[in-house]
Amino acid sequence: MTVLATELNESIRRSLTELVRYADELRDLDQALGDGDLGITVSLGATAVIAALEELPDAATPAEIAKACAKAFANANPSTMAALVAGGLLAGSKTWTDTTEVDVAAAARFIRAGGANIGQRGKTELGDKTILDAIMPAADALEAGGDAVTALDAAIAAAERAVVETRGLQSRRGRASWLQERSIGLQDPGATAFWRYLQSWRAANVAGAEQLSGELA
Ligand SMILES: [Mg+2]
Repeated sequence: MTVLATELNESIRRSLTELVRYADELRDLDQALGDGDLGITVSLGATAVIAALEELPDAATPAEIAKACAKAFANANPSTMAALVAGGLLAGSKTWTDTTEVDVAAAARFIRAGGANIGQRGKTELGDKTILDAIMPAADALEAGGDAVTALDAAIAAAERAVVETRGLQSRRGRASWLQERSIGLQDPGATAFWRYLQSWRAANVAGAEQLSGELA
């Protein structure tokens, strides 16, 4: 299964509409560990990306769609997380230069490059209790391949495991690191946001299609 550029645009908009449902959860997790702005970062960013994608021509390529997401997300709010995510999206878009249809391998390339960029710019390594902890296991799962739904489910499961594991870790980056050992026991909001995005993608783009094919069977 592959996603055409026109479908990609719509799929991203649908999944961001789902993601906004998690804004309060993300705000609360970030309140416990940071400044609590992640809920607003995600909801303002999602709204801005949806508006930008609605303006894109049908002929926009996957790389152009990803670049538009990056620009809109960065401009929607001034947080560090928004800047890092936007940089990750731009880095991902560069792996799609020749990509006309997004398949599992293309998604894996995108997420791996995005994670690497976030790690570099955020000076973050795996285990620092950041969004990277969920991104990289998801990239691993997608690189293992398989059909799109199986690979997506594996990526969601890997990200969820990583999110649960962040509870036992001490935050080493950002405002959360100020809490030092008091950060242990709290779930990382950034990693949670990435996991919730994968779940949102599934809810918006897979669950309905599966139900429909079940009803038609
Ligand atoms: Mg914050």
